[in-house]
Amino acid sequence: MAKQQDTRKLFEDLSGAGKSIGVLTSGGDAQGMNAAVRAVVRMGIYVGAKVYFIHEGYQGMVDGGDNIEEASWESVSSMLQVGGTVIGSARCKEFRSHEGRLKAAHQLVLRGITNLCVIGGDGSLTGANLFREEWSGLLEELVRQGLIDEEAAQNNSELHIVGMVGSIDNDFCGTDMTIGTDSMPPEDGWEEHMCQKLSENRADKKRLNIIIVAEGAIDCHNKPITTNHIKELVVSCLGFDTRVTILGHVQRGGTPSAFDRILASRMGVEAVLALLEASDSTPACVVSLCGNQAVRLPLMECVQMVSAYVSLIFCRSFENNLNTYKLLSYHKADSELPNSSFNVAVLNVGAPAAGMNAAVRSAVRVGIKEGHKMFAVNDGFEGFYKGQIKEITWGDVAGWTGQGGSILGTKRTLPAKHLDKIAEQIRIHNINALLVIGGFEAFECLLQLYEARTSHEDFCIPMCVLPATISNNVPGTDLSIGADTSLNAIVETCDRIKQSASGTKRRVFIIETMGGYCGYLASVGGLAAGADTVYIYEEPFDIRDLQSNVEHLTEKMKTGIQRGLVLRNENSNENFTTDFIYQLYSEEGKGVFDCRKNVLGHMQQGGAPSPFDRNFGTKIAAKAIQWISRKLKESYKNGKVFANTEDTACLLGMRRRTMAFQPVVQLKDETDFAHRIPKEQWWLKLRPLMKILAKYKTSYDVSDSGQLEPVTRVRPKKAD
Ligand code: ADP
Repeated sequence: MAKQQDTRKLFEDLSGAGKSIGVLTSGGDAQGMNAAVRAVVRMGIYVGAKVYFIHEGYQGMVDGGDNIEEASWESVSSMLQVGGTVIGSARCKEFRSHEGRLKAAHQLVLRGITNLCVIGGDGSLTGANLFREEWSGLLEELVRQGLIDEEAAQNNSELHIVGMVGSIDNDFCGTDMTIGTDSMPPEDGWEEHMCQKLSENRADKKRLNIIIVAEGAIDCHNKPITTNHIKELVVSCLGFDTRVTILGHVQRGGTPSAFDRILASRMGVEAVLALLEASDSTPACVVSLCGNQAVRLPLMECVQMVSAYVSLIFCRSFENNLNTYKLLSYHKADSELPNSSFNVAVLNVGAPAAGMNAAVRSAVRVGIKEGHKMFAVNDGFEGFYKGQIKEITWGDVAGWTGQGGSILGTKRTLPAKHLDKIAEQIRIHNINALLVIGGFEAFECLLQLYEARTSHEDFCIPMCVLPATISNNVPGTDLSIGADTSLNAIVETCDRIKQSASGTKRRVFIIETMGGYCGYLASVGGLAAGADTVYIYEEPFDIRDLQSNVEHLTEKMKTGIQRGLVLRNENSNENFTTDFIYQLYSEEGKGVFDCRKNVLGHMQQGGAPSPFDRNFGTKIAAKAIQWISRKLKESYKNGKVFANTEDTACLLGMRRRTMAFQPVVQLKDETDFAHRIPKEQWWLKLRPLMKILAKYKTSYDVSDSGQLEPVTRVRPKKAD
């Protein structure tokens, strides 16, 4: 048989030999900057380029000297968990002047640095863009002044720049972004409007109101709206006890979240890739993530629309957030609400996951706003068949967003054995639609109900499942509610465990994570925590792998690295247990390092949900209810809801850049039911990245890395 031509684009095939990359952090510091620097340095070195730190942002570039320093693999060790930026990020007035940029160009040419990775905000990118536009002029000037010769000018004639910004889509990704200054100013009369809403909320027995004022908020006459102004208004008009808290640098401090670190690591690869692929004719670009997909945007377009840029990229998703937030925060008088006469039931299934309550709250409130009567079911399908079903009101779900676990109560019970009783309850309560929030079991439940439609007409109603599980093993979605909180818990613990031994001798930690057969938590947690090796079921390993991993770690430990981190998923291999691996590493590492082991257990279910899970749960549930409303309307005929098509029993999931409603029956083919995982898992592609960052040589497929696209197209396509 003819050998199939390999059309994949492999990272290791790219060569950075002879290239020098300068990396700087500029402007205000942000979470994840260090993870980004670490990734750029290691990926750069991996492809054979020289990488330089440019300390103190553009100031270091202008001043040169020790500010521009060659980076080594080890120099970015233990950097992941540190907040802020280790390489410094001064603001630089001089770089705004032509003279300053001339000096900076001189410093770069002296070292042959013609590739720059700028990690910063729009100001920093504006500067970078200007610098690139002026580059050839600056070189001519340096030649005229005799500071460099013709040959140097020729060797450095092209300057390539790549910018790195945070995640574009706040819809799905909870990184904190500086929105606020750019949101649409409120219309005249906003003061009365705000006070009216507050008093209506109080009348509704809500005793706590939170008003968030963005730094730099203005009214439509360009007059600043300050927190104190709002406080005075609330006190004088309503007499409510009011406190002002300014979050300030609290928002910047602290260790970066797992998500920020993974994002930054992925972006680091993209940045190096973009620099290696850049030519004089390709525009400078910004790398970012849209939904779950890496993208590249032309830097020029971003910069030319500096303010529009922010509004386009950030505000569109921000507007969605704002609309969802508005929908949930204010309850109209019952008389003002539409009345759909539909009853919708909500329940949790499976193990608790952080963010489930946020999803229930959102579903209940959006449902009420849509005119439905909402019913809460306790203890999943167990409670359902026993009739633990009650109407739930707007006020009942107040304060649920930030609470961990499942307030409704959740059970793993599947409906198949109780179909008659469940059908009976559907009739008793006249339930017209079902929203099931949970993990793999929730998906199985819906599948069973869908398949029982032929025997029970009562299940011919719109049904939707929202993925919520720390394991992230539900087919049809890249991410599930709760996985982010869990990852944070794992990464925080790994940080702590690593730190616990600082100052002592070299040590390797063997850590066991949960997830059933799904290696998501172990792999992605490992990437965020800087693990050396991660053992999972999906990537089988044998004794030879174990041996080479121990040897690799032993070699690394000899180069001055003090800590080793090995993660093992609970079901990765029934014989190579956590104890076995611990003993193997202990024996083989004798004289070089010692070992400790730790089984993380239920702390991984997390306490309070992370901001991402709160947001994700809130938004995905709002979407699901709006879908349910549509399906109810479509399937309401002759005074009755009758929905028996595939597309009325769906799972709502995030797939790359889209949020998609997928018939559960169609997801069957994608599912490995024996091991309770999807047959294809996108995050397996991140494993080579983790290995490279741990100094392994490996094959890394980058075929689906970001393609350059216009700024305006960047937003998740709305499926459905
Ligand atoms: P951010 O990048 O977070 O928006 P700033 O706006 O403070 O932060 O910009 C950071 C640095 O970028 C500035 O101190 C300056 O050195 C450089 N910079 C910003 N705007 C420009 C510009 N228009 N021309 C040249 N350099 C600029």
